[in-house]
Amino acid sequence: MIKKIIRRILGTKQQNSDHTKAVVLSAKEHRINPKLVSSNAIRVTSTLQDAGFKAFLVGGAVRDLLLDIKPKDFDIATNATPEQVKKLFRRAFIIGRRFQIVHVMFGQDLLEVTTFRGTSTDDAPKDEHGRVLRDNTFGEQHEDALRRDFSINAMYYDPATQTVLDYHNGMTDIRNRTLRIIGVPEARYREDPVRLLRVVRFAAKLNFTIAPDTRAPIAVMAPLINNVPAARVFDEMLKLLLSGHALACLQELRKEGLHHGLLPLLDVVLEQPLGEKFVRLALASTDERVKLGKPVSPGFLFASLLWHQALEKWKAYQAAGEYPIPALHLAADDVLHTQTDQLALQRKIASDMRDIWAMQPRFERRVGKSPYKMLEHPRMRAGYDFLLLRCASGEIDAELGEWWTAFMEGDGDEREALLAQKPAPTNQGPAKKRPRRRRKASGSNAGGSDNNKPTSESSE
Ligand code: ATP
Ligand code: MG
Repeated sequence: MIKKIIRRILGTKQQNSDHTKAVVLSAKEHRINPKLVSSNAIRVTSTLQDAGFKAFLVGGAVRDLLLDIKPKDFDIATNATPEQVKKLFRRAFIIGRRFQIVHVMFGQDLLEVTTFRGTSTDDAPKDEHGRVLRDNTFGEQHEDALRRDFSINAMYYDPATQTVLDYHNGMTDIRNRTLRIIGVPEARYREDPVRLLRVVRFAAKLNFTIAPDTRAPIAVMAPLINNVPAARVFDEMLKLLLSGHALACLQELRKEGLHHGLLPLLDVVLEQPLGEKFVRLALASTDERVKLGKPVSPGFLFASLLWHQALEKWKAYQAAGEYPIPALHLAADDVLHTQTDQLALQRKIASDMRDIWAMQPRFERRVGKSPYKMLEHPRMRAGYDFLLLRCASGEIDAELGEWWTAFMEGDGDEREALLAQKPAPTNQGPAKKRPRRRRKASGSNAGGSDNNKPTSESSE
């Protein structure tokens, strides 16, 4: 009786300890606003259901709906095989070799349909640290739920009946704003160490508390991330940085000790005292853009995160006698070389970063045709935004940013007047003449210019 009253007050059903059976939550209990569900997602679930299959929204979409957040995409889980799914839709593509999923397209809208996965990780091939390499069996819905990462990510919503199926007390965790890994935490992190990063991302993004059992092994198990292929770590890092909560995520990573020694990028980003303000500003502006739905370029983001590392090296090369522009290219080579090895920075991102950095010394040249050439540079906007960040962080004089703002906005006469001004001395003065080091051979696409003239090295 007392239990019943408490349950009524808390609005929760009894905690489910049999994870092969779902607690079924009605619309009155889960209070999902059906208007937040995309009509294309409903088209997919109803088509599958009309053909006799089970079909539900699953994962992050259900979690967001329960939090009254409009989901950014909708994943669908079904007992139909990929072949059966494909036959039901005009534009459907089976993708993935390891575990096939189906992409169903309606115009630009893409929905991912996944067949319930089985729980066969005991027999699945693993690496020497216990990371599951392949497992691609289909299974029952309760098995699919067991394989998901967190209780709040393992709920299924049927738009037709407006019911939520909850196998792991996800609803209670949603109400208590708790992030809880499903199963034995150590085992789940070992199977897939990327979950260590996912905990942090969701905790920061949702402002949820990490359950003590889920939190405890994180610091100890952190080094396992080293065994994950760099491309996967990079994907997860990108999700983290583009989550709209990048700053909070990085703070959380630091709190959990996850940045130390294992993610080279983060080591650099969080440990550089001079760069901290710069990174903070860059991430705050990225978060702002994400929240406003504006595009964010990964190249700009990584150029910001690694700028102070590049800057330090740039200064060192200049002190050794290099002229500013070639010195900057050497610095970029060094930074990109380490990061591309360890973080699988894609080539396109690396080349965008190089472009943005290479423009920086060219902003110092405020005479003759040089500033006009800069206006035509395909990355002018990114380079200029980057310059403003440098000004805002106190790295360089605000006057330079203000001059460029005025030059960009000015008409012909105003521009000429600006060019006629005697520029204030900047802190990037010409390098001292010393015998030059030979340029080391590297994969750089930098121009071979050895003076401070504007070159085409930063253009594509
Ligand atoms: P977001 O809103 O950030 O996309 P999400 O929960 O949808 O969050 P996804 O990476 O899109 O995250 O994954 C979709 C779902 O797949 C998750 O909700 C979870 O159920 C499952 N999932 C994803 N990655 C893993 C993983 N590494 N281990 C177990 N389950 C996972
Ligand atoms: Mg998702």
